[in-house]
Amino acid sequence: MLRRAVQRGRIAHAFLFLGPEAIGKRLVAQRVAQSLFCQRVPDEELDACGACSACRQVRAGTHPDLLTVACPEGKRELPIKLILGEEESRGREGLLHDLSLHPMSATRRIAIIDDADKMNEESANALLKTLEEPPPGAILFLISPSLETLLPTIRSRCQKLQFAPLTDDELAGLLVELNWEQDRSAADAVAALSEGSLATAKQLLDPSLRKLRDDLLARLSQTQLSSATMADGIISLIDEIASDVPGQRQVASWLLRFAIDFYRLVIEQGLSGAEAGPAWQALLVRAGGDPVAAADLAAAAIDRCVLADLHIQQMMPVPLCLEGWCDDLSRIHRGGAALLA
Ligand SMILES: [Zn+2]
Repeated sequence: MLRRAVQRGRIAHAFLFLGPEAIGKRLVAQRVAQSLFCQRVPDEELDACGACSACRQVRAGTHPDLLTVACPEGKRELPIKLILGEEESRGREGLLHDLSLHPMSATRRIAIIDDADKMNEESANALLKTLEEPPPGAILFLISPSLETLLPTIRSRCQKLQFAPLTDDELAGLLVELNWEQDRSAADAVAALSEGSLATAKQLLDPSLRKLRDDLLARLSQTQLSSATMADGIISLIDEIASDVPGQRQVASWLLRFAIDFYRLVIEQGLSGAEAGPAWQALLVRAGGDPVAAADLAAAAIDRCVLADLHIQQMMPVPLCLEGWCDDLSRIHRGGAALLA
């Protein structure tokens, strides 16, 4: 689609690449930039030689006409200074200003805004002005997991491209190919949890996260859930894995995701009549033997995990958040989902 657009001389000046984290959106934007900058392959072919100085600069991240910003790890917001410059020189530096300058070595400038969904209002409004009157020849790539968090006025000015997650099979194959995991069946297991994202898979291969997951699943699989012991155990494991608060938030987010996957599987196996584990058995007993009511209990547990993750994102202290979460989960396991409502 991109190649046809270039051939017709109709490449959009702004693209919005949508899809889950780490499935290749930024890589595609970089490759398009590299192809348009490549000194040996004509633009219409939308391909790159990989060897000319422009290609090498794009790969090294030093091409003067390719401007890239992304949200630093652990930050909730894409820093405004990256988009608009420092406070004392707002609008006179930063990505949007640089994009308006004459190209230095290519015939156009290209900008990649990764984590575009994390722009604050001021950045978004400035970006909107650039989209309304783009500098001649400039191309902007906005990268975001979904549409919802972007201003409608920004969305409507971009050509949208939805990227699909990798299949479990593709992902497992990549893990082996990259030699991140030698054992194919272990790679399959990681891929199944990664929702098509290579970055997720990479994090899951971290032994400390695996340990956390195993620990959590063992706790959730018990018929009786002791909230105090569970909270203490989990919080001290998180402390071991990450020493700083942003890191702990990230690990806690993983933990909640593992729990969501756990309950999802509990519902799936329970309702399919397959051999269900002790957690389903316990929920079924609490639900008076009614599978639909047992599934409702598990769904309430999922809702509680989503809420806890939201609290984590809203900067609630991790221990406080997880203590409340453990309390409520143990209540649900005792059949008290109504107490949550
Ligand atoms: Zn080249």
